[in-house]
Amino acid sequence: MNRTGSTAVYPGSFDPLTNGHLGIIHRALRVFDRLIVAVAHNVRKNTLFTVDERLALLREEFAGDDRVSIDSFSGLTVEYAAKIEARAIVRGLRVVADFDYELQMANMNKKLSPDIETLFIMASEEHFFVSSRSVKEVAQLGGAIDALVPPHVAVALMARINQLSGDV
Ligand code: ADP
Repeated sequence: MNRTGSTAVYPGSFDPLTNGHLGIIHRALRVFDRLIVAVAHNVRKNTLFTVDERLALLREEFAGDDRVSIDSFSGLTVEYAAKIEARAIVRGLRVVADFDYELQMANMNKKLSPDIETLFIMASEEHFFVSSRSVKEVAQLGGAIDALVPPHVAVALMARINQLSGDV
């Protein structure tokens, strides 16, 4: 791993990657030299895509951008951040509802690992209402998702939804 420059980790579910995530990633790269986008293994979350599928969608997006690495982790984010020598954890903030949860998590992480900062980037105006959950809901109801996710994610999402509706 390139140890020069500053590295941050952007952890999340990415189920799937949206244009909202992309906005945060591109803006984080204005502050940090390298960003590790890390898919969290969270057994409590019922996801549409497996961890490997989510990693593949992220890798396709960032193939050729050596400032961005894609990885997955389980367990505590701060432990993972320490392991990869990240200086900060990046998270995005959209609505007020994000704030409570994110504040709690940032404070807990600070207690667990005082050396690692959590930095929040506010959602841009056009991504304020974009979430993986809303994108999945719109897609399931037959709405257009082209403006909400990268093209290869839209293809994967429609294929998964068609596959699931064929299963029932
Ligand atoms: P998690 O399950 O950890 O919340 P997500 O993939 O839903 O994982 O989100 C990862 C991070 O990206 C979170 O900090 C979330 O608030 C942020 N995020 C998601 N969508 C947007 C968006 N449209 N604008 C800004 N931040 C976002």
